[in-house]
Amino acid sequence: MRITNEKNDIEYVLFSEETIRARVAELGKQLTEMYKDSEPIMVCILKGASIFYTDLCRQMKTQIHMDFMVVSSYGNETQSSGAVRLIKDLDNTIIDRDVVIVEDIIDSGLTLKYLKEILLSRKPRSVRTVCLLDKYECHPSEIGCDISGFSINNAFVVGYGLDYADYYRNLPYIGVLKKEVYSEE
Ligand code: 5GP
Repeated sequence: MRITNEKNDIEYVLFSEETIRARVAELGKQLTEMYKDSEPIMVCILKGASIFYTDLCRQMKTQIHMDFMVVSSYGNETQSSGAVRLIKDLDNTIIDRDVVIVEDIIDSGLTLKYLKEILLSRKPRSVRTVCLLDKYECHPSEIGCDISGFSINNAFVVGYGLDYADYYRNLPYIGVLKKEVYSEE
């Protein structure tokens, strides 16, 4: 791992701060309309979705409830292992409630599939999934998310909550990480 400084490690900016802000506002409007009568439980998948989640929730002009889950993710690697471990569960019951899972990015789709299955087994009224980024080439369409911010190609991205080895989360934009940062040689 060769982390130097934030700017030098980014190959190029994929989505600027302004572009993200505009898209998150659109998503917030869409969700406001969908859930205007139902006080949904917005479930943040930590840590990657944290910044997207707080911006999105602030764009929802209706009553919502907030809850948080932690699942295991990449660690220091950039390939999905397929193994998903629940580290922190929700604080509240979701029986008969509308639930919205908020994720940072969908790659193989395994994390979201697993989370959706867990939450559906608790008898909510509905479960929908919202992802900021969708690597649409990397998963079958039937396990995709219900609403996505941007479709992207298969590159490793960081910023706006997304990390590599817990770095880069606080970048205000989303950028493609240079390969030499995470390659061995
Ligand atoms: P999946 O289970 O869909 O393969 O992987 C989803 C999780 O992998 C995401 O929540 C995120 O933590 C991580 N992930 C997948 N692709 C990327 C990426 O390009 N950049 C970063 N930083 N994390 C990713």
